[in-house]
Amino acid sequence: MLKQCLLRPQTVAFVMNQTPIRSSCHLARLGSTRRSLWRTFSSTNNNDDVNNDNKPRLSVAVVGAGPAGFYASKYLTSSVLKRITQSTSSGDDDDDTHSTPFGFSGIDIDLIERLPTPYGLVRYGVAPDHPEVKNVENDFAALFNKQGESQNSSINFYGNVDVGKQIPLSKLQSLYDVVILAYGCQAADKRLNIPGEDTLEGVLSAREFVAWYNGHPEFQHIGPIVERCLWKKKSNTTNDDDITETSISPARVVVIGQGNVALDVARVLAKGKPGLIDTDTPTSVLNVLKGGVSHVSVVGRRGHVQGAFTIKELRELTKLDKEGHNVSFVVRKEELEMGMTDASMEELKGPGGRPKSRIDKLLQDNAVEEDAQSTDAEKSVEIRFLLNPTQLAPHESNLSKVGHVLCERTRLEGDPGKQRPVGTGEMEELPADLVLVSIGYRGMPLEGMEELDFFDSSSSTVVNEHGKLPGENNLFVTGWIKRGPTGIIGTNIMDAKDTVKSVMNYLETSVPVAGVESQGRDGLNDHLGAHDVKVVDWNQFLRIVSAEIDTTRLRSEAQPREKILAVSEMLNAAQR
Ligand code: NAP
Repeated sequence: MLKQCLLRPQTVAFVMNQTPIRSSCHLARLGSTRRSLWRTFSSTNNNDDVNNDNKPRLSVAVVGAGPAGFYASKYLTSSVLKRITQSTSSGDDDDDTHSTPFGFSGIDIDLIERLPTPYGLVRYGVAPDHPEVKNVENDFAALFNKQGESQNSSINFYGNVDVGKQIPLSKLQSLYDVVILAYGCQAADKRLNIPGEDTLEGVLSAREFVAWYNGHPEFQHIGPIVERCLWKKKSNTTNDDDITETSISPARVVVIGQGNVALDVARVLAKGKPGLIDTDTPTSVLNVLKGGVSHVSVVGRRGHVQGAFTIKELRELTKLDKEGHNVSFVVRKEELEMGMTDASMEELKGPGGRPKSRIDKLLQDNAVEEDAQSTDAEKSVEIRFLLNPTQLAPHESNLSKVGHVLCERTRLEGDPGKQRPVGTGEMEELPADLVLVSIGYRGMPLEGMEELDFFDSSSSTVVNEHGKLPGENNLFVTGWIKRGPTGIIGTNIMDAKDTVKSVMNYLETSVPVAGVESQGRDGLNDHLGAHDVKVVDWNQFLRIVSAEIDTTRLRSEAQPREKILAVSEMLNAAQR
């Protein structure tokens, strides 16, 4: 705490030039030394004609280079630059705050990422057959491409740096004026808490499966597991030689959960190599998926009105056959009817009911009676409702592998918007060679963060108010680790703006509490150098990109890139 209360030279300059501290608690925070310093500066600082050259630049560390980290960097840079312009303009601004001096002459952001590559879930989470979503990478890269347009701002990328392991969070706090946590929820999963979840081969989380098919370097061990589940010999008479690169796997896959991630994995499994050949799906993944999987069931414990998926993703499933992917879409009329309680009808009519009504119509249009299901397609994706998994059971001939998912039929009870699944006692067994649990991601504290008491393990998020962590510190948070794993990429824009507003408020009303070590980027470089960390900077990342789009690596002209799958290989490419 003592460390946090001392002033560094830049902070002194900031105090000299900044708006008088407004509340007594800020003065109390300064301690006696800082209070006497503050008295001296405030009594001599009556001059609003501030020379920007004497002011420090704001140093900011952003932990995590996914969408949340990029948007926070973008909007904090623009807010600080705007504020600097306002504070140096002639003062015709009606807003009192903005006609007062601002304590900083510029902003330097260091975007720190555990992997050698930026973009987080855009690179390793968005489905490869959604390239239009991945285009947002260009907007993020623009932050670096515009580098140098304003002398008052800079952004550096520190890839391959693990905050918590290679540099403690407390060290970052002492080096930087502001630290923004934007490291997401990609480290863990929500759990079903049912038998078989942890013990059987062939039970994976959708998070692991998605990371594998997107070429995430830490999930390449998933490939052999998927391969065993999809292509294990059905009987002694099946010969491996009969399996070609377009063979359709006879396996049955059960996906538990009905969010957009569940629909993504079902679509990818069904499409297989023929449907993904022109995407950036790694070739090693296509070689496992081959012609796709014959039967995928996506199972939800509630009804179709309560499904967490959106219509775009649902429609894609219904159109797979028309688009030539040889996949029929199956939904049972009976299950749609069962979910149409009075409360569900109210949900369709009530606020926010319009998207749900469109989903209802799409499903009703595609629904068939259970005994009338027939199709020429060799593969199918079936969406099942009102089935709650109660056990993942072993295969009868191999007790270490999953064989089926035992589900209990549910009925809905409760008021509109709050309907919950209640067991009816009726059981159904869904055969399964592979089970993908897709019930949501879970945030984890960074190493060393537990002691700070900032992590709420019940919601798996960092405790915050509009992105500001409680108490006297320079910590902020944005993205999934702030609000939980919900929303699309664009949701992070409003979220980042909310956090940036809190940062700006902090800068206006508090003395930044960075400690004696506050050397920002120089201090980070010294620390990482002393610990022999192989940092990947932005230009080195661009070399990784060049290697990935080298035509000698690509399977066709249409393939956007062949991702490098090992960190060691990325580091080699970064050095070339
Ligand atoms: P999600 O949208 O939160 O869906 C989770 C699903 O799991 C729900 O159907 C939920 O059902 C079910 N579930 C939760 N706990 C369960 C349990 N114990 N037993 C059975 N089912 C359970 O999560 P997500 O699919 O991982 O997606 C995360 C976020 O990323 C979402 O906001 C999503 O929209 C977004 N995303 C968007 C796209 C896209 O735009 N294309 C793609 C991928 C992800 P209940 O409702 O009954 O709890």
